[in-house]
Amino acid sequence: MRSSLIGKIDKAKRYAQEPGRVTLSNLTADFHGENANHKISYAEGKWRCSCDFFSQWETCSHVMALQLMLANELPKEALASPLTDQSLEK
Ligand SMILES: [Zn+2]
Repeated sequence: MRSSLIGKIDKAKRYAQEPGRVTLSNLTADFHGENANHKISYAEGKWRCSCDFFSQWETCSHVMALQLMLANELPKEALASPLTDQSLEK
C-alpha cells in the first residue's frame, strides 16, 4: 500500500512539471484589481466579469490577465480576445 502511494506521489510531481496536462473547462475567480475586486468566470465557452468595462466590450483587463496567466491551462477557444488581432493564443 505504502509503496503504491509513493509511486503516485512521484507521478504527481512529474505531471506537475508538464504544461498542457490540464485543461480547465470551467472556472470562477476573484480578481483583485487596482481599484476593486471583480468576479470572473469562464463557463460554457463564455467569459464573464463583474466590471463595467466587460459589460460593453465582452473582455477586460481582468479577463485578459487571466488568459495570460492560464495560457497553458485554458482551452484554445478561451484564449481568443476581441481586443487583440493576434489574440493571446499559444
Ligand atoms: Zn473585468
